[in-house]
Amino acid sequence: MDDPAEPFSNTRPAPLLPRRGTGHQVVVELLLHGPLTRGELGLALGLTPGSVTRAVRPLLDIGVATELGAVLGPGLGRPVTPLDLVLDRDVVVGVKITAARVWGVVAGLRAEVLHEASTELASTDPVVVADAFADLVRELLVLCPDRAVHGVGVSVGGQLDAAGRVSVAPLLGWVDVDLGTALRQRLDHPVVVDNDVVSLVRAERWLGSARDLDRFALVTIGAGLGYALVVGGEILDLPTSARSPIAHVPLGVGDGVCDEGHRGCASSVLALAAVLDRAAEALGRGGDVSLDDLLAAHASGHAGATAVVEEAAVALGALLALVADLAWPRAIVVTGDGIGLALAGRDVVDAAMRARRAADAEPVAVDLQATGFARWARGAAVAAVETFVVGR
Ligand SMILES: [Zn+2]
Repeated sequence: MDDPAEPFSNTRPAPLLPRRGTGHQVVVELLLHGPLTRGELGLALGLTPGSVTRAVRPLLDIGVATELGAVLGPGLGRPVTPLDLVLDRDVVVGVKITAARVWGVVAGLRAEVLHEASTELASTDPVVVADAFADLVRELLVLCPDRAVHGVGVSVGGQLDAAGRVSVAPLLGWVDVDLGTALRQRLDHPVVVDNDVVSLVRAERWLGSARDLDRFALVTIGAGLGYALVVGGEILDLPTSARSPIAHVPLGVGDGVCDEGHRGCASSVLALAAVLDRAAEALGRGGDVSLDDLLAAHASGHAGATAVVEEAAVALGALLALVADLAWPRAIVVTGDGIGLALAGRDVVDAAMRARRAADAEPVAVDLQATGFARWARGAAVAAVETFVVGR
């Protein structure tokens, strides 16, 4: 039947990548680590040369893999012909749900963003959100009618199960919302729902600056405070508490009190709402001060604004010192929509982190990443690749 919202759906190609067997193993290995020679594939997958040849041939025949130009083999070896996937017909969609907007990207299977769009939410009513989500996905897919769609990844800040039932999402005001079912009912494509910080760390683990490290941490600052830890390539499961595991760690910075009564905890001093409350006071305004307002006032030399930025920077430095000392990561990636605070106060962050650690503590690389919501949506796209293509 014609679907007026996606007029090209009848001609959209189906995904061709094999979903099981040795062919699937070869596809995953090439996707994650390609280009690779047949010899490298055999070593990585524990396959004989004959098995590799038998698995690769049909992939070449249907055009999902290709031979690149011959290169000299290792040492004085014969020339070898690396293989790679042909991915110009395959996409996933990634969507990040926030309280104000739904953000989406269409991405290739190596998470390169092809299109992005967003739509405003009239409310966080789950029906409103699910309808906006479906409209946004259709709008994005109309832009690439000739691509095979492997699935849609959705990231949401909150606690949820594998089927996408959200037990609690504080920033959306949700308790026990069956988001996964609501989204699947509205689309013909497979949908996976993922915690937003986990999605972000999936992208970091595969494609980010820390991808080759056996242990790294991700900290997000924004409306909430997020934390994830990757050890030996595995993302550690988040605790089953509704909030971020770092939201209320004691930092002993500032005299603010969080909504749970802690003085100087991470939420009281570093969550964006708390920072902007102090900014409104410092700038002598009512409640409506944005992070951009605060950073502009700081850049123009407003002493009160600078004090607010620096207090947040000291708090972040204290938090990073705790992460460094307790989790022993090789690197900490810091991102999120409050990252402007960290970038503006970078020297203060570094100094506070050093001051809180032992003089001989091993330095930990801190990577501050400027980011937009498209980056969160890209993380959701990686969740879709991992779920529907890689199968992990
Ligand atoms: Zn607290």
